[in-house]
Amino acid sequence: MKLARSINALRLAVAAAKKRGLTINFVPTMGALHEGHLSLIKKARQPKAFVVMSIFVNPLQFGPKEDFSRYPRTLISDLRLLRQAKVDLVFLPTPKIMYPEKTVIKVSAGPLGDVLCGRSRPGHFDGVATVVVKLFNLVQPDQAFFGAKDYQQQLIIRRLVTDLNFPIKIITVPTVREPDGLAMSSRNRYLSARERTIALNLPQALFVLQKNPRDFSRLKRELAATANLKLDYLEIVNSQTLLPVKSAKGQVVIAGAIYVGKTRLIDNVTARL
Ligand code: AMP
Repeated sequence: MKLARSINALRLAVAAAKKRGLTINFVPTMGALHEGHLSLIKKARQPKAFVVMSIFVNPLQFGPKEDFSRYPRTLISDLRLLRQAKVDLVFLPTPKIMYPEKTVIKVSAGPLGDVLCGRSRPGHFDGVATVVVKLFNLVQPDQAFFGAKDYQQQLIIRRLVTDLNFPIKIITVPTVREPDGLAMSSRNRYLSARERTIALNLPQALFVLQKNPRDFSRLKRELAATANLKLDYLEIVNSQTLLPVKSAKGQVVIAGAIYVGKTRLIDNVTARL
């Protein structure tokens, strides 16, 4: 497994792989890796593929009061996992390499970035779209892999490659959960044992709603009334527009975000109305 700490090293390694006729499969992450990230690698580990992972905690997608500085950084154990998972190349840029200037031209995620998580994290999806465009330009992958856990993010990336004409196939990988149903997340390690139990209320509500979407109002009320849990949002939305669905039939996403202590957690399931 090769490490690229500079843009030049990354470009040389990718060019060599392309010359060998390999498909470039790219998995962007912020590190603090878990089974969810590993499932993306497993999907990317195809015959004749060269698997590139990036680990970069992107300052542009964090708000001023969010957890950028304390976001878990676990590079040594991440690299051990990536070697076992047979990743070919890991790109490890610093903020200075990605954003050498004080100001930066940003990509706007548009209206899809203003709803759901975008409402409580203004500018977040512009930060995501900007770093992903940069990473796509640097890596020039054939395919890129994103988790369904961040449903809104993968939808925005799908629109981004269409609207900005990137010749990249986006592949969305199902959410990996702990045995008790909690979606795996780098932020789960912030939770105390007691907070972790409280966090389970979100997936449990989503699983009930997936079977009985008509219970929506009751479950939302119950979630909002749960002690030591602050409900950010719980919504049933159209899977393409992310706009609230009331009665229409079709594929919907039931998405929620909660705060447990200082930790913000998100989750979603898809359902047919
Ligand atoms: P992150 O490092 O949290 O930015 O996530 C990097 C990628 O891993 C994103 O595409 C996420 O959607 C994906 N991911 C994170 N958690 C999970 C999970 N539990 N299951 C599947 N994919 C995930």
